[in-house]
Amino acid sequence: MELLPENLQHLKGQVAIITGGSRGIGRATALALATEGAKVVINYASSSTPADEGVAEITEAGGEAIALQADVSKVDQVDTLFNKVTETWGRVDILVNNAGITRDTLLLRMKPEDWQAVIDLNLTGVFLCTRVASKIMLKQKSGRIINITSVAGQMGNPGQANYSAAKAGVIGFTKTVAKELASRGVTVNAVAPGFIATDMTKELKNTEEILKFIPLGRYGEPQEVAGMIRFLAADPAAAYITGQVFNVDGGMVMA
Ligand code: NAP
Repeated sequence: MELLPENLQHLKGQVAIITGGSRGIGRATALALATEGAKVVINYASSSTPADEGVAEITEAGGEAIALQADVSKVDQVDTLFNKVTETWGRVDILVNNAGITRDTLLLRMKPEDWQAVIDLNLTGVFLCTRVASKIMLKQKSGRIINITSVAGQMGNPGQANYSAAKAGVIGFTKTVAKELASRGVTVNAVAPGFIATDMTKELKNTEEILKFIPLGRYGEPQEVAGMIRFLAADPAAAYITGQVFNVDGGMVMA
């Protein structure tokens, strides 16, 4: 990666936290925001190697990044994560609620623990991080919160009752929090990817079937989702946008 020339960096000096920033869409987002001059926090849950690789790529290009472990479905770990960020860099300007998991199976086979694990991270995790970040952003009177939802939360997907419920919840949460924070200069938006080529989708076996539902006829790349996130974080480009859901899905959902 290369940083943009300093006079073109839209996020110079801003602090961005990307939950699940070590792999996939999160990694691409970390690099994209660093390109724009942001100081980037790459959060991860269990595997430090990809997080450290992301940090190395950014710092070798002349940017600033740190890797911080935290399971963002846990209230105490979220508090510790944000405390470490404010101790290090003193502020939080951008939060990308990206960490997510799947536990796919049809409803009749879905165990309560499959349901709960997905709700805990994909929905409660978004609430926990947004709650802490918004306190900081309200004091700053500025901030950008970008939640990663999914087309599954808009149109449903067999085998994903837990995931689609969580992702639909993220959309309702985004709209409500956008209304609550709007008067204080904080915007809240959601990005809904379709099928993106990451570890999450690489085990999917029915690729031919899936491609029939994608008008553009291919999976998306993580960088293509990161491009939308980068736009939503930018000032003034996205300053007048809040409470919206942006699909990056090859045309799967056309409202
Ligand atoms: P991915 O490649 O599987 O990466 C997941 C990331 O989340 C990793 O960095 C992982 O870190 C982290 N993570 C997992 N559990 C965590 C936890 N409890 N706390 C903090 N971090 C945790 O996923 P992805 O495909 O890039 O997906 C990113 C987001 O986009 C998710 O919200 C997903 O639901 C959404 N999305 C993806 C697609 C798609 O087709 N890929 C489509 C629509 C929506 P560790 O390695 O340390 O666990």
